[in-house]
Amino acid sequence: MFEFLKKKPVAAITPKAAVANTDEHAKADSPAEAPARSGWSPDDLAQAFTDFQVEKAARAEAEKAQAREAMRETLGSSLLARSLGGLFSGNPRLDDDLLDEIETALISADVGVSATTDLVGKLRKRMKVREFPDVAALHQALRADLLAILAPIAKPLAIDPEHKPFVILTVGVNGVGKTTTIGKLARRFQLDGHSLMLAAGDTFRAAAVEQLKIWGERNNVVVIAQGQNADAASVTFDALQAAKSRGFDVLIADTAGRLHTQVGLMAELGKIRRVLGKVDETAPHEVLMVIDGTTGQNALSQLRAFHQAVNVTGLVVTKLDGSAKGGVLFALAREFAIPIRFIGLGEKLEDLRVFDPEAFVDALLPDTLGA
Ligand code: GDP
Ligand code: GDP
Ligand code: MG
Repeated sequence: MFEFLKKKPVAAITPKAAVANTDEHAKADSPAEAPARSGWSPDDLAQAFTDFQVEKAARAEAEKAQAREAMRETLGSSLLARSLGGLFSGNPRLDDDLLDEIETALISADVGVSATTDLVGKLRKRMKVREFPDVAALHQALRADLLAILAPIAKPLAIDPEHKPFVILTVGVNGVGKTTTIGKLARRFQLDGHSLMLAAGDTFRAAAVEQLKIWGERNNVVVIAQGQNADAASVTFDALQAAKSRGFDVLIADTAGRLHTQVGLMAELGKIRRVLGKVDETAPHEVLMVIDGTTGQNALSQLRAFHQAVNVTGLVVTKLDGSAKGGVLFALAREFAIPIRFIGLGEKLEDLRVFDPEAFVDALLPDTLGA
């Protein structure tokens, strides 16, 4: 009946939902009845574990559908969606002019020269050998090619339970959305049953430590902080030690924004990274760089410099609502092949969405051709 119990000994089961309830239950029962470290029978534990997994899967499924809807709504008004929509809705002829216009649309929307040249070059070749019977076929090919650029970098962030705590170091230039993204992530991890701690590593801006502390208090998350102007590496070091000794699942460290051209500050990031390695040589387990989606091609220089300093392992592209053109993800994917974990579609908690390349491309291209 409980398949997973047959495979694993009870002691190996540590689902958060079950553990959280175990204490309560254990108090009610007499210890004599609870030889297996709690008052829960194996069936109870198995049921709690199954319920938790089912609930988590259902939430992920619902979120995926909502994200698709949100992308459609938000990215539909991006420059890229508007210009491609305009092109394909005007009953265009299948000719070189159409390809030139697609090329212009992609370049203007920050897709970048190399990705654009590649995309349009391929389409042109296929058009020359009459592979496309009509514009709809070209539209399909463009969709597939856009998706092929993004699909390899769509790898959701997974918290590896082997690492306790799983350490996430957040980096990026000023004002891109690092701290707000940390808040959104923390909420997400809590819902998934992970216990977590935050490190207020932005010790430079007066309000930054306070911003994180207030957020932490409101959401019942422990924030490790020292005063303003404390050494960021020392705050992060302390936080990791605390998270480790208190058995937290996840530690997210904030850092001060810095320009990728400020050599000294980039070196400071390297120091934060090294200091984490002193407590746990495998840490950080994720170096999450937050990039403002309205930055355009400058995002590439930013990523190049941060990657060199701290070896970025995942990206969050924020502010894809508003004035973002929508194409920068293709340029990033093409040049770096670093996974895009999340995209930011607004300032609300739920606006941080797991990056779904198919929904993303579908939001940029018109559903139907013609007027
Ligand atoms: P930090 O300096 O990188 O820590 O940036 P903050 O987290 O303080 O955010 C700077 C501003 O960007 C705040 O006003 C956020 O609300 C805003 N912001 C963050 N993500 C998004 C997003 O996806 N869309 C929009 N429109 N604003 C965002
Ligand atoms: P600037 O002096 O006009 O370049 O203004 P900035 O706002 O870029 O920085 C002011 C000073 O604070 C500079 O000397 C920076 O080196 C320093 N600074 C900026 N961000 C950080 C940071 O994250 N950590 C530390 N330690 N210093 C910083
Ligand atoms: Mg911040």
